[in-house]
Amino acid sequence: MIEALRKACYVVSMVVSTETKECFICRKSKSPFKCGLCESALCKSCSQFLNHDELSFLTEIPKDLSHDVYCGPCFDQKVFPQVEAYNQTMESAKNVFVYYKAQSKETRLMKRSESPLQVNACADRDETVLRLAFLAVKLGFNAIIDVDLVSKKVRDGSYKILTWNGTAVPAIVDAEKLNRQ
Ligand SMILES: [Zn+2]
Ligand SMILES: [Zn+2]
Repeated sequence: MIEALRKACYVVSMVVSTETKECFICRKSKSPFKCGLCESALCKSCSQFLNHDELSFLTEIPKDLSHDVYCGPCFDQKVFPQVEAYNQTMESAKNVFVYYKAQSKETRLMKRSESPLQVNACADRDETVLRLAFLAVKLGFNAIIDVDLVSKKVRDGSYKILTWNGTAVPAIVDAEKLNRQ
């Protein structure tokens, strides 16, 4: 119920104009939405909404993905391929090799050519590791080593919650060699 309400508020907040324009796709009058890229007027059912929560691992939002509403053609051409790429990076991030700082014996021969990656203010341990892995995949690596996670208590209103920071060095692991051992 609250979810539905929230969604409704979200949609209402994206109405950009009260003018009664005609939807450029289906010709419905009173079409208050507007494509963020080509600026054509749209009715609600011809609008494609981008949920930015689903792209939260991006450190920088590409310009094409910075809008809330798109028409079908712009979404298919400019948004969908980037969302697909994001999802692929996420899938690869889930399969990244993870070595913690305490495992330095196992990683002593691995090359550390990049400076450490850092993520801050994550909700939990798993998210911290996944965000580090995501960054590593984007840079073309398949492993994170020297993973170091630190949690700290912060005040959130009248509550205290834990937030997590993490660092890791991106690395390349020869998966086949690892399987042969
Ligand atoms: Zn329409
Ligand atoms: Zn458009």
